[in-house]
Amino acid sequence: MRVADHLDGALSADGTVRGLAAVTTDLVEEARRRHGTLPTATAALGRGLTAALLLGGLSKAGERLSLEVRGDGPLGGFLAEATDGGVRGFVSRPKTDLPARRGKLDVGGAVGRGILCVMRVPATPGPPYRSIVPLVSGEIGVDVARYLVDSEQTPSVVGVGVWVGPDGLVGAAGGYLLQAIPGASDDAIARLEENVAVARTPSELVREGLDASGILERLMCGLEPRDLERRPVAYRCRCSQRRALGACAAMGREELERVRSAEVVCKFCGQRYDVGDEALRGILGGSPGSES
Ligand code: ZN
Repeated sequence: MRVADHLDGALSADGTVRGLAAVTTDLVEEARRRHGTLPTATAALGRGLTAALLLGGLSKAGERLSLEVRGDGPLGGFLAEATDGGVRGFVSRPKTDLPARRGKLDVGGAVGRGILCVMRVPATPGPPYRSIVPLVSGEIGVDVARYLVDSEQTPSVVGVGVWVGPDGLVGAAGGYLLQAIPGASDDAIARLEENVAVARTPSELVREGLDASGILERLMCGLEPRDLERRPVAYRCRCSQRRALGACAAMGREELERVRSAEVVCKFCGQRYDVGDEALRGILGGSPGSES
């Protein structure tokens, strides 16, 4: 049974534990298809996209959240960006594939040591909020949890996972984010830790056929979770012909005068934009407005 992609939020009955969970199987498969990633890279990108959606679930409407990981491993890193339930992303080296470690795709080995950078760009004019923390393991979930503890001072548990089938396609993907809000009792936190300790991995929970609300019921067991919201999530890019023209304008006058046409490929989704001679002359002539 395949559950359509969505994100769910819940709050414990006493209001001190917040949970978010997401099923992201289809959008991670779309990312795999768009970028032609091999299994380890698919898992890294899928975990990143899922984590960005979960962090985005904590954001205000219209805010853009970007999650970037840079490491010294063979993958290099990835960038994932979420806005209002839409997410897009790419990895530096999509053909990265390592032998499994303890039966799991070795995302930590592919990423290596490095940093995690989270940026929140508000919808209203104002400076972006940016925070960088060192990677703990490169497995992404624990790294994002560390970021939330260090940068946002919120005790958190984050699990993200991708299951890639023998055919190389994404069979299940999803994740959860649990936070103790100030005022949470020791009992509630102990309960949460116990639940997390015995829980199966996020991709196993999705493979069981659970939806996001089912995942939260499992992880917030004993805390009487109340559903707050449910919203669809999807792979969504913000590229356009207009932005492609903007990219051409950034090439500089000398380069523009030399070429007769250009093909701009969006690094987030692989969409190709053909920019013809006329449009290029238009840029040289000072129109249209560019946007990056
Ligand atoms: Zn795009």
